[in-house]
Amino acid sequence: MDRGTKAAVLVTGGAGFIGAHTAKALYDRGYLPVVYDSLSSGFREAVRWGPLVHGDIRDARTLSDAMAEHDVKAVIHFAGLIEVGRSTVKPDLFWEHNVAGTVSLLGAMRERGVGRLVFSSSAAVYGQGGRGALETIPENAPKAPASPYGDTKLACEWMIEAQCRAYGLTGVALRYFNAAGADASGQIGEAHEPETHLIPLAIAAALGDGKPLTVFGADFDTPDGTCLRDYIHVSDLADAHVAALEADLPAGAYEAANVGTGQGASVLEVVEAVGRAVGRPVPHSIGPRRAGDPPSLVANPGRARELLGWGATRSSLDQIVADALRWESQPSYGAGVRGKRKASVPVR
Ligand code: UDP
Repeated sequence: MDRGTKAAVLVTGGAGFIGAHTAKALYDRGYLPVVYDSLSSGFREAVRWGPLVHGDIRDARTLSDAMAEHDVKAVIHFAGLIEVGRSTVKPDLFWEHNVAGTVSLLGAMRERGVGRLVFSSSAAVYGQGGRGALETIPENAPKAPASPYGDTKLACEWMIEAQCRAYGLTGVALRYFNAAGADASGQIGEAHEPETHLIPLAIAAALGDGKPLTVFGADFDTPDGTCLRDYIHVSDLADAHVAALEADLPAGAYEAANVGTGQGASVLEVVEAVGRAVGRPVPHSIGPRRAGDPPSLVANPGRARELLGWGATRSSLDQIVADALRWESQPSYGAGVRGKRKASVPVR
């Protein structure tokens, strides 16, 4: 379809990792992604497929003006704080940015009559509950967040659901499992400051660009004692947002869907996959558990297929690691995050 005929979509946090990949997926589908970002953790260079509005998610006025100026028809909401560990020491900050920020966004949407929201939620809403390590998680599983970060995502979901019912908004919350990998073009990828995520840290360690990796706990009740996670390629995740935007749902509907593969990988399995891709083992040691980490988070992805017609197609661990390695070897922004890159690195 011709791009000119399709709507402007406000992408809050669109200069960040998942937001930038989603902006690209929107552009590829003919939408105009209007990125709204404070650039406090995102990168200007990651905004390539539409305009950037520089603003804070708690600033309802600037949000509302941006919606009017660009004739925004729908919002995909990523903006917020994401580090689970930090949320355990600064919970107030997480409530302010994630929950109060979403209050201000919803208010601006109501003011401008924007009726569709896709919300960036998280598997962190589930926590471990009473689930066994090998059980996958359906959407109706008990919600027992293990961190203030997870609390804020769950609080946002409740608030969005209530506003859908009250004001006729249509909302879809996507509960991500572990986003990883990078766009195949090499134009955009993962760049957090500081980087806390397993795959980039393991790659940096194997390339000799970063510190040896610390495995956070090997005494969990899982097959090899390390945490199990469901790694999902960021480009698959981006496609799920476009599918949620286009899902045939009535006004007032609210839905939540897991975005994962249904397959768990342990920290040590990731370490091995990175070692294979780089061609050198990942230097690592076993350390204590990290606060707020449940032993296992693996999706039951059935609802996303049913509701959105979506399923992962690029999310084998080897594909994720290969795409992440291509990016990590030659990042076009954010390289300062992990120091100077080696001139030649073995990319396979
Ligand atoms: N992890 C680790 N060492 C690190 C970073 C992460 O062992 O330096 C583990 C972490 O405990 C979790 C998994 O890797 O079990 C994925 O963590 P990440 O921070 O990438 O994502 P999260 O699960 O927190 O969303």
